[in-house]
Amino acid sequence: MKVILPDQKELELPDGATGLDAARAIGPKLAEQAVLIRANGQVQDLRLPLADGSPIQILTIRDKNDPDALYVLRHSSAHLLAEAVRRLYPGVKVAIGPPIENGFYYDFEFPQPITEADLEQIEAEVARELEEGRTWMRSVVSRDEAKARFVAEEEPYKVELVDTAEGDISLYTQGDFTDLCRGPHLQDSKPIKAFKLTSLAGAYWRGDEHNKQLTRIYGTAFYNQADLDAYLVRLDEARKRDHRKLGVQLDLFHLDEISPGSPFWHPKGMVIFNSLEDLRRRENAARGYVEVRTPLIYDKELFVKSGHWEKFREHMFIIPGEDHTFAIKPMNCPGHMWLFASALRSYRELPLRYAEAAPLHRNELMGALHGLTRVRHITMDDAHIFCAREQIEDEVFGCLDYAKCLYDLFELEARFELSTRPENKLGSDEEWDFTEGALRAALERRGLDYQVNEGDGAFYGPKIDLHMTDSLGRSWQMGTTQLDAQMPARLGCRYMGADNAEHTPYVIHRALFGSLERFIGILTEHYAGAFPFWISPVQVRVIPVGEAHREAAQSLAGRLPYRVDVDDSDETVGKKIRNAELEKIPFTVVYGDAESDASLAVRAHGGDQSTQSLAEFLESLAKLSPWQVGA
Ligand SMILES: [Zn+2]
Ligand SMILES: [Zn+2]
Repeated sequence: MKVILPDQKELELPDGATGLDAARAIGPKLAEQAVLIRANGQVQDLRLPLADGSPIQILTIRDKNDPDALYVLRHSSAHLLAEAVRRLYPGVKVAIGPPIENGFYYDFEFPQPITEADLEQIEAEVARELEEGRTWMRSVVSRDEAKARFVAEEEPYKVELVDTAEGDISLYTQGDFTDLCRGPHLQDSKPIKAFKLTSLAGAYWRGDEHNKQLTRIYGTAFYNQADLDAYLVRLDEARKRDHRKLGVQLDLFHLDEISPGSPFWHPKGMVIFNSLEDLRRRENAARGYVEVRTPLIYDKELFVKSGHWEKFREHMFIIPGEDHTFAIKPMNCPGHMWLFASALRSYRELPLRYAEAAPLHRNELMGALHGLTRVRHITMDDAHIFCAREQIEDEVFGCLDYAKCLYDLFELEARFELSTRPENKLGSDEEWDFTEGALRAALERRGLDYQVNEGDGAFYGPKIDLHMTDSLGRSWQMGTTQLDAQMPARLGCRYMGADNAEHTPYVIHRALFGSLERFIGILTEHYAGAFPFWISPVQVRVIPVGEAHREAAQSLAGRLPYRVDVDDSDETVGKKIRNAELEKIPFTVVYGDAESDASLAVRAHGGDQSTQSLAEFLESLAKLSPWQVGA
């Protein structure tokens, strides 16, 4: 047999050769440093046989930033963690331990609860394993054999996993630990040059709150120490910026068990929320959208027709009634289409752009909830554009242009991903050629770089997902622009064309912020709580130096057409300035004997000080608030 190397050269190998055999055939050093192989574009364990004719790429310790190379390193590190925990805590049960973005975790059921302080000892045990060195061995066993093994080891989670596993059961062994695992894994532990346990959390078995709560240990690993050090600095910064912490500290919102996943917005948080709402309304109006308002609760029949009852029911809150079952809407589309379908429309009304930022409810699992970034109460900046076939490109262009403007406004770097026809697509290839072509043309016309995810579209149409990168370099999926050629017909949307015949419109589902909750969570971390002037809850604070200056301070505050407060507490001026700094208020004006409208002592958040006249100050604030309604 032969395989094809990245430089297109062919490599002859004996039948049944593995990735490791291929590496050895190229050179002993490569074989020693190999960590993983990509064959036919798929990652594969080095120990598995290669298919004849496959293009291959061998990844080594030098591919230290390759996501797949990091995954295999971290997956093997998770197994080292489990081995260490089993040695240190007899009676512990092991659950699952996958690699994740930036690291790995392993879930355990400990006989006695452990604390963060115990992580040090576990880390020391892993360090010992690394010093001794570990080699991974892969074996394939029958389901019965695997089950007998984990029953004997009294590992109930592994037994359950064997019961639900599909296909062959593979085991990986290192040291005295054998794990049920699909792999792939490193050959040995030599490439793991830096290992760190980062935190502890509760996690329900299989993410379901009806199951037992397990202890999740998070960690990470790298191919060298410098990369770990740089990561820990970033992690520390991310912790300081955690929106759940800043949200409480800045008095923006809180979450409560009384309504899981549904934030209580405090007055200051509502200022930010409403600022984004104002922006949404104003831009929508400028871009030809119309506002609608549709019910929150519907007879389930609507969702049966739309297809959500079949596909999405487990994420819906359902309200049983006497002879009808109702449900709270998890998305706006069915309501908007029902509204459109309430009359036979004319082609002259198209494109018709319905916007509504209604509260939506999705019954997310308790274990999946996370601050504002994963909630049950979702306010999407939603819109549905009803259009004719020849209008698709222009409408998608409009959505992309709108998205780009928003992301630029918040200094978020936008990324666009086009997802194309999946295997279970509805509609002909000619139809998909047309719709995908329209989306591509819109991306190119707007001059946007984009990535193509072949086959990732929904069965009813192609889509463009909007991602952005925040100030810490983290990527977030935000909104989407999704073309739909199916649901409008299911819900009876029709219009009379110029040809005097009835047609079904296309619908573009689009949300740009995504949800306002999530967007505010991300903005909080992106700005580390120091929001831009125009959305800051308190924009200017005036600090009178003494009793005698209170009146002048109040008078100044009254003449600034912004959200201004006066700190007339009895604290020292120094303490008041520090408080304003902690509250991340964009501007503080200290008002004492030397101050007047001709000369104000202005201090920007972060410490820049200047002396400005009131007129100059107002002029500079006006430049910072072009988006603020009423300023
Ligand atoms: Zn594993
Ligand atoms: Zn929709």
